[in-house]
Amino acid sequence: MIFHVLTIFPEFFRGPFEHGVVARARNAGALEIRVHDLREWTFDRHRTVDDRPFGGGEGMLLKPEPLFRAVESLWPERGRDRAVILLSAQGRLFDQAAARRYSGMSELLLLCGRYEGVDERVAEHLADEEVSVGDYVLSGGELAAAVVIDAVARLLPGVLGNRDSAVYESFGESGGLDCPQYTRPADFRGWRVPQPLLDGNHAEIRRWRRRAAAEKTARLRPDLLRPPQPDGEGGEGKI
Ligand code: SAH
Repeated sequence: MIFHVLTIFPEFFRGPFEHGVVARARNAGALEIRVHDLREWTFDRHRTVDDRPFGGGEGMLLKPEPLFRAVESLWPERGRDRAVILLSAQGRLFDQAAARRYSGMSELLLLCGRYEGVDERVAEHLADEEVSVGDYVLSGGELAAAVVIDAVARLLPGVLGNRDSAVYESFGESGGLDCPQYTRPADFRGWRVPQPLLDGNHAEIRRWRRRAAAEKTARLRPDLLRPPQPDGEGGEGKI
């Protein structure tokens, strides 16, 4: 799979993808990350990417022309197995279901906003989807793009060592959280690992894990226990 990122800070992406499973997957050729400098698609002397908002107000906005030019030159044709994603606090919430859907595509092109945001015509006429990583405001789309790439990359075939590890984790088949996990020592400062995990009875371990996962989901994320919506999608606001 190929991820394209369009940003005014290409150096930002030097760090995030050089460790762990994503780095291994890149080295193995399972995915490619191409970072593009938005200023490559400006033609004035100052390589201007921003301008003041009509109607007044604080700050600057990313102008539409460089973004349209960039996307249209990277992808002269748009296919169904590719999507242009605008990272935006106003977007639909990114979740594991969206990560799974994107992992079935051949390419994603992620547009990173900056300043006070992006001219709305980019959301309306250039992006296929406007996506938020959470209900808070970041100073730029780069961290959000890194979150999306990381979550999608680890779902690609051959990226995680164990074929099942993406199924039995949080937001996997059960829809709830993963169960609590422990490693040695069995007794740390008097806090003991739950007995069923130490006894080696596999049926008991499965039962304990199911119950502990359900308890933790109910305690920390009761919203995940809501019955599925009639349209078969997640709740309102989910992709
Ligand atoms: N004025 C905007 C915020 C702009 S923040 C508003 O109030 O909605 C600048 C850029 O950071 C945005 O264009 C977007 O690309 C990115 N950004 C901020 N918060 C984000 C979030 N929760 N998810 C994804 N991208 C976000």
